[in-house]
Amino acid sequence: MTITTAQRSDAVQLWSVRRTYGTGDNAVTALDGVTLGFPTGTFTTVMGPSGSGKSTLLLCAAGLERPTEGTVVVADTDLGPLTERARTILRRDRIGFVFQSFNLVSALTAEQNVALPLRLAGRRPDPGIVRRALSEVGLADRATHRPGQLSGGQQQRVAVARALITRPAVVFADEPTGALDTVSSREVLRLLRDLVDTHGHTVIMVSHDPVAAAYADRLVLLADGRVADVTGALDAGSIAARMAGLETRE
Ligand code: ADP
Ligand code: MG
Repeated sequence: MTITTAQRSDAVQLWSVRRTYGTGDNAVTALDGVTLGFPTGTFTTVMGPSGSGKSTLLLCAAGLERPTEGTVVVADTDLGPLTERARTILRRDRIGFVFQSFNLVSALTAEQNVALPLRLAGRRPDPGIVRRALSEVGLADRATHRPGQLSGGQQQRVAVARALITRPAVVFADEPTGALDTVSSREVLRLLRDLVDTHGHTVIMVSHDPVAAAYADRLVLLADGRVADVTGALDAGSIAARMAGLETRE
């Protein structure tokens, strides 16, 4: 098993993070002492059986949940001492999110959706920057379309452009291809891969799909709230075999 550590230079660091829900007999330990770094400019997939703590890890790493114990550092900022307001601002300015369900505003055009994080930050979106973000995801010719006029894959690419518009230190993607067909999934995964390779973005994705995980250059395997393994890039077959190993072990 690989020894897992975090380094000060990582875009996101978790140090001995524990997260329990409930108290007494009902207490559940979702994360049980996780120390992990996500290096800047890498694409990591987090995998593990249902209930292993993947969502909790993402929520803690993104500052949406507070760990019960331990430290989370995003873009060199320790989230622990921050007020709720400071955490909200850090999330808005330094973190991008892509969800399984796209979460686009149906009444807004693609370019209005992409510009939304800037508007929420009280900034006047530069149309050139918004258009450039759309062309980076291959949708320059769809700027004035609304979500209902776009395919699932195109909608998710709009969501990726929106996640990137603030130039975040890290993009979290929770099952980003869960609602897509095979062709659209491949399109979105190639885009995430390209963002890392060409633009140096940092992507952390949760997925249960070995084919999706094979696009990443690092794989974090969770079991029972602990890091079971960290590996480099693997092909889908090897990933499926490791997942099967985790799911059958006691
Ligand atoms: P995964 O995403 O890998 O399926 P989760 O992080 O969602 O795992 O959950 C890990 C464990 O923590 C599970 O046992 C789950 O039931 C529990 N859990 C997660 N969130 C909560 C919550 N809000 N309240 C109580 N238990 C929770
Ligand atoms: Mg989950």
